[in-house]
Formats: sequence, structure tokens, C-alpha cells
Amino acid sequence: MPLPEIVTPEFQTNLPSTGETLFYRPFLVKEEKMLLMAQEGQDRKEITNSVVTVLQNCIKTPVEIKKLPLFDVEWLFLQLRSKSVGEVINLNLRHNKEGCQHLNKIELPIEKIKVNQTEGHSDILMINEEAGLGVKLGYPTLELTEKFDIENATSEDIFDLILMCIENVFDKEKVYNDFTMEELSDFVGELPKEFVDKFMKFFNSMPKVGYTLEYECEKCKEKITHKMNGLMDFFL
Ligand SMILES: [Zn+2]
Repeated sequence: MPLPEIVTPEFQTNLPSTGETLFYRPFLVKEEKMLLMAQEGQDRKEITNSVVTVLQNCIKTPVEIKKLPLFDVEWLFLQLRSKSVGEVINLNLRHNKEGCQHLNKIELPIEKIKVNQTEGHSDILMINEEAGLGVKLGYPTLELTEKFDIENATSEDIFDLILMCIENVFDKEKVYNDFTMEELSDFVGELPKEFVDKFMKFFNSMPKVGYTLEYECEKCKEKITHKMNGLMDFFL
């Protein structure tokens, strides 16, 4: 005899990068199992992969998770976790201080965690103000972020990253978005050197999912500031 069908509730959230509304269901026992196994392994790549798979399963609106910027993925995962496990993250934070080492239990409501925008951040980079010439950038996808190691990037890597991030080129007359990679590569190669600095400023000031936790150690009463950023910190 077939068992009754289980109806799961549906929720919605907005994608931080575009504001698009996405519908999702909470994750189920099979998905929680996958996440717990990845968590035990403590391997960043494995954790990211399991998060991508679970998000892909649970989000009902057609979207390719790997093509979203990292902060969108982190944000979506937190919303999903909040509706699946609970709206509070229970943290066990050890106070690493000589003579203390107290394990503080902190409750962090997920709604407090936001996508933080850096002031002055813009996805438009001007090349020549007089000619109205500039480029519109897109945020690197999760896929690209995973492959790219900014700490050890060569100038060639950064050149490639720039190519991947340019959505269009514009001047006073029109918007150019129909070009080949070769044409774009030639164009970027001709840009003044300051362009790379401007690009790095864009890259380093991209929106980030984060929270600065401020609490008092229960034992020694010292005030502690604990910055949390990214999947690894919130994957608990
Ligand atoms: Zn303490």
C-alpha cells in the first residue's frame, strides 16, 4: 500500500544581489544527513558542495546555485537553515585566554545576520569620464570564487577574473554587450593600469554575509568581539 504523500510548507525570500523572489521548502531528513556528514568532515569544499546540492534541491524557483555570487548562496543557506532547523544558531565559543578557557553558550538569531554593503561600493567602473566610457561588472559566481585564490593570484589570474566579471561596456552612445572573449580581452589589455586597482577595490568591497557578535564572557566578564563571516562560521 502506498504511504500518504507528505506536504512540505513553502517559504519565500529575496535574492540579495537582484531582489528576485525565490520560493523554497525546508530541507528534509535526507538533506540534513548530507549536511551533517559534510560538517563532520570539516572540509570547506565538501561543505560548500553539500550546501549547493541542498539549496538546489530545496529552491523551487529555477536558479543555478553555482552561478550565484557567494553572498547570495550564504544568505539563502541561512534562510533555509532558519526554516529547517531553527531560527537561532547555538554557538559554543571558547574564551581563549590564559586562566579562563570558559565555553560560552551564545544564541544568535539568524534574522540578525545581514548582507553587509560597503559604503562607496559600486559595480560601475568608469574608464574615461569625458567619453562616458565605463564597464558594468557582475559579481563572480560561487563556481568562480571556489576556483580562484585571491591571496595567491598572479596578474594573469586577475586579468582572467576581470574578463569573467565584465557584464557590459558602455559609452555615451550605447551599451556594448555583444562581444567575443577575444575582443573583450583586447579591450581590457588596452586599459590604463589604474583600472586593475579600481577592479580590486570592487572585488574587495563586495557585499558579505557577516555578523559581529559582542558578548561578555560568563566566567571572567571580559567583553569579547567575535566577527563571523561566511559559510564555515555559520555552518553550525
Ligand atoms: Zn573568560
